[in-house]
Amino acid sequence: MKSHAKVVVIGGGVVGCSVLFHLARHGWTDVVLLERDELTSGSTWHAAGGMHTINGDPNVAKLQKYTISLYKEIEELSGQATGVHLTGGVLLAATEARLDWLRGVVSKGRYLGIDLEVISPREAAELMPLIDPKQFVGAVRNKEDGHLDPSGVTHAYAKAARKLGAEAERFTKVEDIVRRPDGLWRVITNKGEVVTEHVVNAGGLWAREVGRMVGLELPVLAMEHMYLITEDMPEVADWNKKTGTEIIHAVDFDGELYLRQERGGMLMGTYEKANKVWSEFQTPWNFGHELLEPDIDRIAPSLEVGFRHFPAFQKAGIKQIINGPFTFAPDGNPLVGPVRGLPGFWVACGVMAGFSQGGGVGLALSNWMIEGDPGADIWAMDVARYGDWATMAYTNAKVRENYSRRFSIRFPNEELPAGRPLKTTPVYDTLSAKGAQWGVAYGLEVPLWYAPEGVRDEFSWRRSTDFDHVAKEVAAVRNGVGLSEISSFAKYKVTGEGAAAWLDRMLACKLPKPGRMTLAPMLKEDGKLIGDFTLANVGEGEWFIAGSGVAEQYHMRWFEARLPEDGSVRIEALGQKLTGLAIAGPKAREVLAKVTRADVSNPAFPFMAVARMDIGMAPCLVGRVSYTGDLGYEIWVAPEYQRAAYQALIKAGEEFGIGLFGSRALNALRLEKNFGSWAREYRPIYGPLEAGLDRFVAYGKEADFIGKQAVLAERKQGGKLRLRAFIVEATDADVIGDEAIWHDGAVRGWVTSGGYAHHSKKSVAIGYVPKEIADRPDGFEIEILGKRHPARVQPAPLFDANFERMRA
Ligand SMILES: Cc1cc2nc3c(=O)[nH]c(=O)nc-3n(C[C@H](O)[C@H](O)[C@H](O)COP(=O)(O)OP(=O)(O)OC[C@H]3O[C@@H](n4cnc5c(N)ncnc54)[C@H](O)[C@@H]3O)c2cc1C
Repeated sequence: MKSHAKVVVIGGGVVGCSVLFHLARHGWTDVVLLERDELTSGSTWHAAGGMHTINGDPNVAKLQKYTISLYKEIEELSGQATGVHLTGGVLLAATEARLDWLRGVVSKGRYLGIDLEVISPREAAELMPLIDPKQFVGAVRNKEDGHLDPSGVTHAYAKAARKLGAEAERFTKVEDIVRRPDGLWRVITNKGEVVTEHVVNAGGLWAREVGRMVGLELPVLAMEHMYLITEDMPEVADWNKKTGTEIIHAVDFDGELYLRQERGGMLMGTYEKANKVWSEFQTPWNFGHELLEPDIDRIAPSLEVGFRHFPAFQKAGIKQIINGPFTFAPDGNPLVGPVRGLPGFWVACGVMAGFSQGGGVGLALSNWMIEGDPGADIWAMDVARYGDWATMAYTNAKVRENYSRRFSIRFPNEELPAGRPLKTTPVYDTLSAKGAQWGVAYGLEVPLWYAPEGVRDEFSWRRSTDFDHVAKEVAAVRNGVGLSEISSFAKYKVTGEGAAAWLDRMLACKLPKPGRMTLAPMLKEDGKLIGDFTLANVGEGEWFIAGSGVAEQYHMRWFEARLPEDGSVRIEALGQKLTGLAIAGPKAREVLAKVTRADVSNPAFPFMAVARMDIGMAPCLVGRVSYTGDLGYEIWVAPEYQRAAYQALIKAGEEFGIGLFGSRALNALRLEKNFGSWAREYRPIYGPLEAGLDRFVAYGKEADFIGKQAVLAERKQGGKLRLRAFIVEATDADVIGDEAIWHDGAVRGWVTSGGYAHHSKKSVAIGYVPKEIADRPDGFEIEILGKRHPARVQPAPLFDANFERMRA
C-alpha cells in the first residue's frame, strides 16, 4: 500500500468505486480506495439492482440519467460485464391524485430530456402483462428504467479506475483519521498509514463510524429492506416466448411496490409502513456478507396489495426473501460534498439508490474536488443542507418517516410531521394560539398561514382550504399592515479590521455606507450565483447579513473557507441567537412610530436604512426593507426580547387592524413584485444577468470581487437564459415549481416557483427561458397537471411597478 496519495477514498461499495473512477477519469490518478473487506461488502452486494431516471428533484434526476448512460462506458473500459438490461418500465397510478403527480413528473421530464409518456391502464397492461388494469387509473411509460448486476457494476467501476491509474486496496480497514498541523490527513489502517490531501468518506453502512473518526455525526441511518424472488412463473415464460423480451419494470406507488423479472420468475420489493431501523447507534464492524432475518409479517400488507394489483403472484411460489440494510439521510437524498470546518474531508454517503445515483455522485464529487465546483446544481444532495440540528434522534424520526413514505404522494401543501417541532422561537405558542399552521425550514418551525378554528390544510395539487384565508392575510398587508415572523432567515455578523475589504471581495455589490443596506449577490469564480443577501452596514465596523435560512451551513462553508488566515475578519452565523419579526403595509410606519422614540419618518429613516432602536422595551436592529414589496421593516431581536417586541407591535397595530401573515401570503406578495428567492430562482447555475440580479452587481467597483471577470464576460455575451415572470391563465391549480414552459409548441424552459398573487388576482409563474425568446409577447404556455395553459410575460411587477410604496 502506498504511504502517500492525493486522495484516499474510504469504502469499496458502488459509491466509493464510482468516486475513484471519476477522479481517475478526470486526471487525478494518485488516488487510492481502501476497503476493509472485498469490494461490495456493505449494502451493495444484496441490492435488487433496479435503476430509474425519475427523482423528485430535477437536478438529481439529471444525475440519475447520467448514471444510467455511464454503464456502457465503464463496461467497455473495464471489460467487466455490468449486466445492464434497459427494459423500460411503467409507473402505475391507482388514484387520480397519483396520476396528477405523474403528470408533473412527465412535465419535468420534457425539459430534462427524459422520455416519459402518460398511458392508459390498458396500454400499461399491454407493456407489462402481470398488471390487472382495473386496479389503476393511469400510468407513465419510462424507456430508461432497467436493472443490472450490482457486483458487476461495482467491479466495473473499480477495474476501469485501475486501468486509468488509480489503486484499490482490499482487506484494508481504516481505523482512524487524524488531521496533521500542516493540513494533511493521516489515514490509519490495519496495514499502515496513508498521508493524503483529501479523504472521501464513502463508508456506506459505516459512514457514521468513519465520520466519527473526525468528530462528525452524520445524519444517516440504515433501514432494513426486503424484496422477494418468486419461483419460475408460467406467465413470465409465456411472455418471454411470445415477445422475445423480458417483462419490464413496474413501480406501483399506491401498493408501495417495485417489480421486475428475475430469471424465470419475478422480483418484488416494498417500502413497508411498519419499517425497522437497523443498528440504530453503531454499525458493527463484523457485519459483512450476511443477510438479515426476513420478516414476512412486516411486508404482508404491501404484498396483499401486490397480489391484487398483479394477480399472477397469487399462484407463484416464493423462492427467497432478501432482507438487507442500507442507509438514508433524513430526506432520502445523498449527502455529498466538502464538510464545513474540515478542509479536505469530503462525504459521499447516504446514497439510498446507488445504482441510479452512484455515477452522478461520483461525477459531482470529482468535479468539486478537482475544479472546486460540482459542475451541476446539486443542492438537493449537498451535505450542507443539514446542520448540527439534524441530531441522531431527529435523523431516526425523519428516516423512518421517509422510508415509510418512499412511494407516497407529498402534496405541495403537505407538511410532514416527524421530528417536529424541533427548533421554535419564543412566539411559537402565541402564534399557535392564533391558528398558525406550521412548516419547517432548516429545522425551525415557520408559520405558513393562520387558520380559523376547525380549518386545516386539505392536501391537494389544486387550490385548497387555505386559499381564502391567505387572501385575507395578503389584503391586511396591502390595505393596512401585517406582521410576520421572519426568524427563519440566516443571519450573520461580520466584524474585524479586515471586514470591509473582505466583504468587498466576497460580494459583488457596492458596500453600503454606515446606516445603509443593499442587496448583495455573491458569485463563484465562474460568475454564477452562490448567494443573494441583504447586507447592512451597522456602523463602527459591524456588518449584518441576512440570507436564505436553509443555506446557512452552505454559506458558512463558503465564507469560512475564504477567511483571511490572519484573524482580521470574524464571521458568526447567529442562528436563533437572533430572531426576527417584520411589519409591512401602508400603515407600517405609523405602527413603528408608536413603539419607538427613534425618528422613523421617511427623510430620517428612508428605504434601505438600518438602525438600532428600541421597540417598546426591546432593543432591536431595524432595517427598512420588505420582501412584500410594500412599505415595511425587518426587525431583528434577541430571543429573550422577541415576545416583548411582538406584543408592542401588535398592540400598536390594533387601531390599524394589524393582521398576522405567514410565508404563503409572503409568497403571494413577492410574486406580484417579480422578487426571486434563493434555492428557487437563484441557484449556482445562473449568472446575475440571467437571474435579473445584474443591477445589484457593481461591475465597475475597484475591488476584485470573486467572479468579476466571469460576470464582465457574461454582460458582454449576454448569458444564455433569462428569468421571467409569467401570468398564467390557470383556473383551479397554480404552478408549484419545476413545470415545463412551452413556447410555440416546444418546451423551452422551466418554472422555478409560482402561485397565486391574491392582491393582483393573477396566477403567476417565475422561470427561466432562453434569452432569444424571453421578451416575446406571446406564444408561451405553462404546463400544470398535464394541461398547457396560455401564459404571457409580465415584465414589470403587477403591483407598484414604480416601487413607490417601498420608498414612500
Ligand atoms: C435489499 C436491498 C435492495 C436494494 N435495491 C436497490 C436497487 O434496486 N437499486 C438501487 O439503486 N439501490 C438499491 N439498494 C441500495 C443500494 O444497495 C445502496 O444505495 C448502495 O449499495 C450504497 O452503496 P455505498 O457504496 O454507499 O455503500 P456500501 O455498499 O455500504 O459500501 C460501503 C463500503 O465501505 C466499506 N467500509 C466502510 N467503512 C470502512 C472502513 N473504515 N475502512 C475500509 N472500508 C470501509 C464497507 O466494507 C463497504 O464495502 C438496495 C439495498 C438493499 C439493502
